[in-house]
Amino acid sequence: MKQPLRPALLLLFLLWAGPRPACAWGFFGHRLLNRLAVYTLPPKMIGFYKAHIEYLTVNATRPDSRRTVVPGEAAKHFLDVDRYGDSCLTTHGRGLPRRYEDAVARFGEDSLLRHGIVPWNIAGMKNQLTAAFQRQDADAILRLSADLGHYVADACVPLHTTKNYNGQLTGQRGIHALWESRLPELLAADYDLFTGPAPYLEHPADAAWAAVARSHAAVDSVLLFEKELTASFAADRKYGYEARGGATVRVYAREFSRAYHARLGGQVERQLRYASRLVGAFWYTCWVDAGAPDLSKLPRTASAVEELRLAREAAAAVAPAPGAVPGHED
Ligand SMILES: [Zn+2]
Repeated sequence: MKQPLRPALLLLFLLWAGPRPACAWGFFGHRLLNRLAVYTLPPKMIGFYKAHIEYLTVNATRPDSRRTVVPGEAAKHFLDVDRYGDSCLTTHGRGLPRRYEDAVARFGEDSLLRHGIVPWNIAGMKNQLTAAFQRQDADAILRLSADLGHYVADACVPLHTTKNYNGQLTGQRGIHALWESRLPELLAADYDLFTGPAPYLEHPADAAWAAVARSHAAVDSVLLFEKELTASFAADRKYGYEARGGATVRVYAREFSRAYHARLGGQVERQLRYASRLVGAFWYTCWVDAGAPDLSKLPRTASAVEELRLAREAAAAVAPAPGAVPGHED
């Protein structure tokens, strides 16, 4: 079923909805993806999700706010495929174990966390969200849907699958934000982000690994095209200055950003479409696997307890972080 969507209004909302911390897919992209995913859901789900679309939008970036606060959180957002070799994505031979416990047994948890665990984390969260649907626990459904949407979206970012996550190993520092923040922020109004209804995932864990594999296959072009473009741009045309929140900041120039988008053949746009459908597919699959509970009886606002929990988490996020596990912090 196709739901009406007004992209221009949606983008306006996303652009002025608050300050922007540094985070994966960018503040803008994560909000956009959770929001778009709502419109991929079937009739029996969409009422509840639409009623909570502001919650799902605003809290789309919460996992990034926790990165430096909660030990082990950072590792949930990426997988450095190249630490293991491309063959790690196969399901045999040198392939990484699909069960987290097996991976821990093989590599040790410290090593695993250092190189990221995003596909295992998605599979674990899928089970948590399914259980929340079974309990018909509206707060948990909301919280886990927002978080799961974030991690699925992260798995769809090529630079979340490489140790060279910010071009720091190839003299391209800053490329992370160029790909996942600057391009969507500049160009999303021109993107075609409509996607079909979310499909049911027969093998959700495999879908998470497939997303990582698809992202990783794009890493070479993400890096190469930026390098080629940089060589063809005068140094003073690659960057520009823009006013942001009362300050003037250096950004990739609009002309350079548009040229990069064209050189990538619309890759960011394609990944946004793919990610929004996949987020919806995970939510839908959890609901089906929980026995397709009736969501029409669930509350249309988050509970006072959930609001309090969010406020506490937000306060903790600005506190100093004791012993957080680092990862892709550049
Ligand atoms: Zn993230």
